[in-house]
Amino acid sequence: MQKEKDLVRLALLSEMKRQGCPVCRLIDKRSTERAKTVLSESVLDTEFRKDFLDAQGFCGLHAEKVLEGGRPLSHAILYQSLMGHMRRNLGKRRKKDSCLLCELERTNEEAYVRFFAQCSSEKDFFEVYREGSPLCFCHLEMTLKHLRRESPERKGLLETTNQKYDALFEDLEGIKRKSRHEHAHEAWTKSEQDAWKRVVRLFTDPYAYRRKKG
Ligand SMILES: [Zn+2]
Ligand SMILES: [Zn+2]
Repeated sequence: MQKEKDLVRLALLSEMKRQGCPVCRLIDKRSTERAKTVLSESVLDTEFRKDFLDAQGFCGLHAEKVLEGGRPLSHAILYQSLMGHMRRNLGKRRKKDSCLLCELERTNEEAYVRFFAQCSSEKDFFEVYREGSPLCFCHLEMTLKHLRRESPERKGLLETTNQKYDALFEDLEGIKRKSRHEHAHEAWTKSEQDAWKRVVRLFTDPYAYRRKKG
């Protein structure tokens, strides 16, 4: 457990230096890595095959990721068996709304926000967050649930994240202002140039579907 926490801590530190919510980024990175190997490791695993058939394959998002890993033979074996399963069960609703990789992401997400909350009391970790990209709204809310009310960690996380949101808000103001005719000659700052994309990603909560029980 400690080893896992250390690994996640390091990975979060690295993601915080890039653009976008560090928790979203890390979940996506781990799931993309897993998608590349999941078929070859699991094709003979009966438990995996049962779950795969119950979920009727992968969801659209993850099927594309798995395809990117190649592996024609593994696809042929598993999807031939899924075709047979589907033909025998035509008209029946699938048992799960989420696929195996959705489940993995859901588990990872819970662990990452918990570790993020634990690490937020460490000065070094928090300094990197202060300089880096903010959590998205969804992961901020999830992380806050792991921090005691009135605790300095909770207060610090909220304050710092709000400062980052304020800066983004100002960038959006800048875009609005400079889009008006009388200010059209003013150059957009580097930060304003992608602010309209960054703000969308603060709200997309790409993992909401996974939280529905499958
Ligand atoms: Zn996020
Ligand atoms: Zn999925």
